[in-house]
Amino acid sequence: MSSLLILPGDGIGPEVMVEVRRIIEWFVKNKGLQLEITEDLVGGAAFDKHGTPLHEKTLEKALEVDAVLLGAVGGPKYDSLDFNLKPERALLKLRKELDLYANIRPAQCFDALASFSSLKRDIVSGLDIVIVRELTSGIYFGEPRGIQKTDSNERVGINTQRYTESEIKRVAISAFELAKKRSGKVCSMEKANVMESGVLWREVVSEVHRDFQEIELSHMYADNGAMQLVRDPKQFDVIVTDNLFGDILSDCAAMLTGSLGMLPSASLGSIMESGKPRAMYEPVHGSAPDITGQSKANPIACILSFSMALRYSYSELENANLLDSCIEKVLAKGYRTPDLMMGEEGELVSTASMTDKIINELDEHKQ
Ligand code: NAD
Repeated sequence: MSSLLILPGDGIGPEVMVEVRRIIEWFVKNKGLQLEITEDLVGGAAFDKHGTPLHEKTLEKALEVDAVLLGAVGGPKYDSLDFNLKPERALLKLRKELDLYANIRPAQCFDALASFSSLKRDIVSGLDIVIVRELTSGIYFGEPRGIQKTDSNERVGINTQRYTESEIKRVAISAFELAKKRSGKVCSMEKANVMESGVLWREVVSEVHRDFQEIELSHMYADNGAMQLVRDPKQFDVIVTDNLFGDILSDCAAMLTGSLGMLPSASLGSIMESGKPRAMYEPVHGSAPDITGQSKANPIACILSFSMALRYSYSELENANLLDSCIEKVLAKGYRTPDLMMGEEGELVSTASMTDKIINELDEHKQ
């Protein structure tokens, strides 16, 4: 039986997670999904109980399970805490201890929400791409770093872009494996024209590609990639890139699709004994204190994060596709949480009734 650790967290985290549990229950009851679920505290909620945002026992559990599903952490109540006690430290610690080096950010534009994008409808409608960002190395971690003084007593800011072959290799493998489950295309982005780390990146990705001949590989300079993402994003399927470029390109791609309440993510690590990658799934959004406790939170980002878990951790492709298509149908019928309302268009629904609508669609596909 597969296992899942649920960490609802703070603010709207627990509110959207309740809805995800209803979706999970539907799959257990109607599609024979076998999932051993445990739930624990993280972030501010863990700090309130244990005085730390991530208890050792919770970390131990996270290291044991097939996948972690996290809601959101943080909130104004915790803003004045020491840096190491802040709820967000739990996220960084989980990513580091699980060694989640591949951050997967899909940018999927549901037809019904195409008018939310700042780009023209025909450019984004039906968009379905994934950005794989290297998450644990590169310029955010490279040494030397800091602000120093030059010989002439001028301040100089230093960061170092540094990638080893093995770091590039493992994230390239993640991207190719992902492409196998999609349309089989990978575009690797770097700046090999001006950066040696980019030259090595391109070489290593091409070497790894020899073991994935069924996948079509292309290379692009990251600045051109940014331009192409807004010019014609549908030309891509999987994009693999480093930590810095991935940070920028994934935010740019996310905004092609509209609301924060719609964006899931996954962070994957090395393959475990079970043959599955270590994994943590989470919506891109935060704890949204401004709407907490008002039944206004859009649960779809978290539900789509579970759909990614079905796809990448549990090999339940059919069920993942079913869930995605039911969400699409609900949106096409015009049901909208407040963040998705545009003028008078659509029928306003609460967090729970959005899930009701998705479950109604799923019910059409009972076994
Ligand atoms: P946020 O993502 O929480 O909210 C930004 C805006 O988007 C708010 O107006 C909010 O109401 C809206 N929003 C977010 N998710 C929504 C949803 N599912 N449905 C409808 N509307 C939604 O970002 P913020 O306000 O900058 O941060 C609030 C807290 O969350 C801070 O403590 C921050 O540190 C934390 N945070 C946590 C994570 C995480 O847990 N991964 C990510 C970002 C921010």
